[in-house]
Amino acid sequence: MESPEWTTECCVLCGSRNAETINRKDRDGKPLHTIACTECGLVRTAPMPGPEELREYYARHYRVEYQKAATPKLKRVYRAGRAAMDRAVWMAPFLRQNDEFLDAGAGGGELVYVLRSKGIRAQGVEPNLAFAEYASRELGLPMEASILEDLEYPAGRWGSVGCFHVLEHVRNPVEFLGRVRRCIRPGGHLFLEVPNVENCCQHPDRRFHWAHLYNFSPVTLRRTVVRAGFQVAWCQTSPDGGNVLLAGRAEEGGGEGAALESGYAGLMEHEREWTAWRYYGSPRTWRRSADKLAGMVREWAAVRSRRSPRQVLEELTGGRM
Ligand SMILES: [Zn+2]
Repeated sequence: MESPEWTTECCVLCGSRNAETINRKDRDGKPLHTIACTECGLVRTAPMPGPEELREYYARHYRVEYQKAATPKLKRVYRAGRAAMDRAVWMAPFLRQNDEFLDAGAGGGELVYVLRSKGIRAQGVEPNLAFAEYASRELGLPMEASILEDLEYPAGRWGSVGCFHVLEHVRNPVEFLGRVRRCIRPGGHLFLEVPNVENCCQHPDRRFHWAHLYNFSPVTLRRTVVRAGFQVAWCQTSPDGGNVLLAGRAEEGGGEGAALESGYAGLMEHEREWTAWRYYGSPRTWRRSADKLAGMVREWAAVRSRRSPRQVLEELTGGRM
């Protein structure tokens, strides 16, 4: 029997070609083949789409987004602003006032705005041209419209770099973070947030998305960061367990000699335990739906008398930037 194409692809984390299928559909029920490396437990899409295919997908995806909302709606600004406030809280112990911070994949610039309101010299890079232009025009933020891979920063250019919900989209997360590592000064920090594949808040079949090429667990995210030359300074899941948050430190010799744990056994245990029955039977599922509804009402109330994104963010941060 001919080997399927994906068996020829190595795991970017451990180099193994051994993997097993864990899911065959995406969150909308369309075919999507998801595999787990049996050595390290890293979960990925197989076969991996080519760079051109991805570029085209993003071009289409962003165009659709552009047509639906050329500028982010105020509700979206409010939601992203609240997420940015939460991120600013957990990043605070690792940030230095005079450091320059780069938000890679900055969206509408909400985190850049929030950090600047706290005296951090933050700027953003965002591949979506419409969003990048909007953030600089409406919020007066320093934003560059580009993908991080296309930019060449001098070594040690940034004090810290944030990549929030970015890593799951790139074809080689180890290589991507290695590039980020080089542009962070020694002792500076990397901040990450990715969806948690081992979450207990989503239906097991609704975790996988075509655009997410990788699905991390806390163990595989830590290992990826270490492989890229960082030391893990802090790592936790979000309060609902849906995301993994991590702060990594760029130290000389970082990543060397660190114990590289395998996430495979833990992942498979989660796959066995977290079934659709468990999902529907969990009080957390129903609480989450109620919270979602309450959140929508809160968003509506918060933005209904607001006229601009600046007003929404000023309200959230309690003053002008
Ligand atoms: Zn692996």
